[in-house]
Amino acid sequence: MRLRTSYHTHNRYCDGKGAIADYAAAAAAAGLEALGVTSHSPLPFPEDYAMRLEDLAAYRDEVARVRAAYADRLRVHLGLEFDYLPEYADAMWAMLADSPFEYLIGSVHFVGTDGRGVPSAYDLSRAGFERGLDELFGGDARAMIAEYYRRVRALVAWGRTAILGHLDRIKMWNAGDRYFDEQAAWYRDEIEATLGACADAGTIVELNTSGWRHAVRAPYPSPWVLRRCVELGIPLVVTTDAHAPDRVAEFHDRAAAVLRQVGCTRLAVLRDGAWTLDAA
Ligand SMILES: [Zn+2]
Ligand SMILES: [Zn+2]
Repeated sequence: MRLRTSYHTHNRYCDGKGAIADYAAAAAAAGLEALGVTSHSPLPFPEDYAMRLEDLAAYRDEVARVRAAYADRLRVHLGLEFDYLPEYADAMWAMLADSPFEYLIGSVHFVGTDGRGVPSAYDLSRAGFERGLDELFGGDARAMIAEYYRRVRALVAWGRTAILGHLDRIKMWNAGDRYFDEQAAWYRDEIEATLGACADAGTIVELNTSGWRHAVRAPYPSPWVLRRCVELGIPLVVTTDAHAPDRVAEFHDRAAAVLRQVGCTRLAVLRDGAWTLDAA
């Protein structure tokens, strides 16, 4: 199995290091056939990781320039990682209405809003995760996880994002089942309901390798979830969520091994504006 695409990458328009051209050079050097540029979507509240709305036009132009420069060896796609917050999604969508993105990755990075009205991110630090858990959910991890997956399903049902980003990222700090048991029936039910929503909406699920670099030391989502995707006929892609050019193909070997384990033989590929399945 050879992995040939990298559809989830950041760069210096958001919180990534390096220029878009650096990612294209790294992707071409790694023998990839397609690179998706997916900076974090501009957000309507203060934070320090998303793209600025006023940079959107320059971002589009830069992707177009890099696409032209690599036209003979790499397909370069204009995408965005769309940060889904139920209360802001439609306004954010309206903000992007004039931008012809080839696809969006939809991701949930927030599980609620704290007492000061600030969205609460679970993934920036363990301290932030625990603060959200205590302040918003009274320390009830199951309630927090349920809210996370409710949001993921709302995002999928919203229907505007081709790929669901890092499906079970809420497990980021859960090494050793510290906060919840991934095999508990209630947790498996949340996953099943979420995969059902993906199957209904025709949403692609990514095997995001960045979890191998995080404290949890596991891909998003876990292999047992990927196996269920294969059983349910949900299309998969492998992404690395690279925030530095030398990570565009990071852990591709491990991802290929997991795909073999779970019986995945085809991967989603974007060609001529449409997602199709290619033999992996
Ligand atoms: Zn993300
Ligand atoms: Zn990302």
